[in-house]
Amino acid sequence: MSNNGHHFNGASSEAPILRAQHVSKLYTDGQVSALVDVSLEIYSGEYVSIMGHSGSGKSTLLNMLGMLDRPTSGEVFLDGQPVSQVRNLDSLRAQKIGFVFQSFYLLPVLSAMENVQVPMFEGNLPMAQRPKKAVELLELVKLGHRVNHSPLQLSVGERQRVAIARALANDPLLLLADEPTGNLDSKSADTVFDLFAQLHRERGMTIVLITHSEDLGVRADRIIRMADGRLLSDTRSPGHSSRQAAADHGSESDLGPAGLGLGLVRPPRPKSILPPFAVPDHG
Ligand code: ADP
Ligand code: MG
Repeated sequence: MSNNGHHFNGASSEAPILRAQHVSKLYTDGQVSALVDVSLEIYSGEYVSIMGHSGSGKSTLLNMLGMLDRPTSGEVFLDGQPVSQVRNLDSLRAQKIGFVFQSFYLLPVLSAMENVQVPMFEGNLPMAQRPKKAVELLELVKLGHRVNHSPLQLSVGERQRVAIARALANDPLLLLADEPTGNLDSKSADTVFDLFAQLHRERGMTIVLITHSEDLGVRADRIIRMADGRLLSDTRSPGHSSRQAAADHGSESDLGPAGLGLGLVRPPRPKSILPPFAVPDHG
């Protein structure tokens, strides 16, 4: 299979980036069926929101898709590979997936640009090129003027944008975000969603995000609704095809310099994306 997964489309003639096949998750400690026989496919270039009430299984599903946890039964395929067969999950995850969480997990003792470089320690980019790339990614999220600030000196919205820049550090195949605006005021939440939309539209980034916000969630091209660990509905908005969007908006990028590796060709790179020692900066 081709490793250049960044084609601007969601066409079903292509193999999906991500496929869940009859995935169930039972949390045995509470005998909770958090996911029940969920099957779905995510294609390159799609922008998908997952919505549903608290406890409906959204985070559990994202954790399965992102290989942060293993299903009780069923299989997840990433880029055609059955995840259960993968020896080094950390490495595969770090190569292919950028994560954004409700809690930003930034390190307060590091500057913004140092935070963005944390995942690069496990990537392939030579040390000498990392600061420049970190600055470029911060420019991409419109924080080029705050590269040397500590997260503590940034607003919550700015912190989440640093976290998004960090998620892009190793040029992932897709972004997974779990309630990325859950700790943000509505204006910052708006800005963060604008950023996701631009990454999708202008860079062809594949995005799957969970949100509580109906207003924000419906901005995605495809909306999956969950209840009681099952998919309730899965709808694509007409006239919102990824290819269409990429074609419509391809010429008006203001997302910074090309050659960040977010586009058509990904260099090979390994390893983990999450700073293992990071702690949430809120309760
Ligand atoms: P959502 O993200 O939609 O709020 P979750 O996926 O977090 O829902 O949770 C789905 C169900 O699984 C809930 O009933 C929740 O209480 C339960 N659950 C989640 N994580 C665990 C866990 N680690 N142990 C036991 N039950 C869990
Ligand atoms: Mg959740």
